[in-house]
Amino acid sequence: MPRKEYLCATDAAEPSEKPFPRRCPECGKVEVRPATIAYDAEVKHDGRLHAFHIPRLQINKCGACGEVLFSNVSNDQVTQALREHLVLLSPEQIRDALSKLGLRQKDFAERIGVAAETISRWIGGTHIQSRAMDNLMRLFFEFDNVRYALTSTVANNMLITTALTSRRRRSGN
Ligand SMILES: [Zn+2]
Repeated sequence: MPRKEYLCATDAAEPSEKPFPRRCPECGKVEVRPATIAYDAEVKHDGRLHAFHIPRLQINKCGACGEVLFSNVSNDQVTQALREHLVLLSPEQIRDALSKLGLRQKDFAERIGVAAETISRWIGGTHIQSRAMDNLMRLFFEFDNVRYALTSTVANNMLITTALTSRRRRSGN
């Protein structure tokens, strides 16, 4: 699924160091300056389109032709607004929960079955977890027995037990 460009802010080149005013890519005039707009965002996440309002989005705007340019700051602001709109765990909440449990990101990744880079993207704020992963993290952080069940050896044993049980059921015992 194509991801909206502004959700990949950190992958983009970093033009934010250039001084203002900057040259407008649309009309060529050196009239681009920071500005604030009210913005109705529509962002695809988790296979659905989400619409929400951002009252004061920081963007760059051309004073000559009115072209609006998103910066990394705008992208971060949209991502954060989307996360709040969806009521998903914030990077700070995930980081705090891991530090309370004394878990490293790498070990946490292994326990819930995602790549370590995925966790660092969530915690870095550049990517937003799906609803299902958010639910899994909440369960993991909240309940001892969930954490216990997701230690790798226990998880393997449980899968084996389940497989045996269902095989026995199918053979009519
Ligand atoms: Zn312009």
